[in-house]
Amino acid sequence: MSRVYNFCSGPAALPEAVLKKAQSEMLDWHGAGVSVMEMSHRSDEFMSILASAKARLSRLLNVSDDYEILFVQGGASTLFSQIPANLVNGFDSACYLDTGAWSSKAIKEAKRYTKVNVVGSSKEQNYSTVPDFSSLNLDESAAYLHLCPNETIGGVEFSDLPETQLPIVADLSSTILSRKIDVSKYGMIYAGAQKNVGPAGVVICIVRKDLLARSSDDLPSVWSFANLAANDSMINTPPTFAIYLADLVFEWLEAQGGVEAIEEINIRKAKALYDFIDSSAFYSNPVDPAFRSRMNVPFILADDSLDALFIRESEEAGLRTLAGHRSVGGMRASIYNAMPMEGVVALIDFMRDFEERHG
Ligand code: PLP
Repeated sequence: MSRVYNFCSGPAALPEAVLKKAQSEMLDWHGAGVSVMEMSHRSDEFMSILASAKARLSRLLNVSDDYEILFVQGGASTLFSQIPANLVNGFDSACYLDTGAWSSKAIKEAKRYTKVNVVGSSKEQNYSTVPDFSSLNLDESAAYLHLCPNETIGGVEFSDLPETQLPIVADLSSTILSRKIDVSKYGMIYAGAQKNVGPAGVVICIVRKDLLARSSDDLPSVWSFANLAANDSMINTPPTFAIYLADLVFEWLEAQGGVEAIEEINIRKAKALYDFIDSSAFYSNPVDPAFRSRMNVPFILADDSLDALFIRESEEAGLRTLAGHRSVGGMRASIYNAMPMEGVVALIDFMRDFEERHG
């Protein structure tokens, strides 16, 4: 068996050490005689895994007692509805920043629940940049401000947050744990696991406790953040295997030196790839250099008739899933935490060789 470098945007590559550990525990988890997939979610064994995952995530992100960590099902797309359903209660509107495909989808879903005030948009710039925060049309009486600090498809990322008294609700699906963040600046953070955290099937939510009071009793019980918090994310059977894998990824990340250490590596990986793209007349990246994503690097070839050949040859070279999102085309290399520097170097070497042969 030989593993390849996997540049998929999600479900994405997991650290090999995590997969090996899961494999070694697959038939018999810690002497239980069964795998995690086969044990009751109410068993002491699984409860210890859930507690461990929460504790490690709290340590990694420095989450204070003011916040509740929830493991939610349905994917980040479900949160696009679940967030307004829980948090708009008692308010007339919500503010949304529009920086790309994922914030647009969140806006579309929120409109089913409330009046949406789009405070700024980079749509006219083809989502290649981020609106100037000083010109945002914020309504401080709204329920919250929603934003997506890393647009997985467009490859646009920002780390500063707008100045506002509104609780900031952030979709960190493709950037969580890749860089330091100050959790206290957010009302709520959510992230689908299948990029930097684990397999698909669970969404990590970190909710400021005072916001839980907004969940109405009329909500479906499995949708209520307050109810999820009161029941330790176990109103019904949680995605036990995904939570277990997330715990193993958190353990791996702690062993790497935590978020600060992985951020240094992520900076180096992204810089190497962008520097190469910028040095070439054959490849280009369309994003404003101030807002280029460290996690998702889209690039196009000067001659798009070579796209199919590029994909075929890269797969043959052991570089998997480099095609861009179907809505934008071109290429995209997703280089999350689990992608080693060696994978980025292998990609650059392939791109250089391809250019020499076809450029
Ligand atoms: N938000 C962002 C930033 C994403 O990248 C994705 C998926 O790629 C989603 C939301 C949707 O996630 P899911 O497929 O888990 O609903």
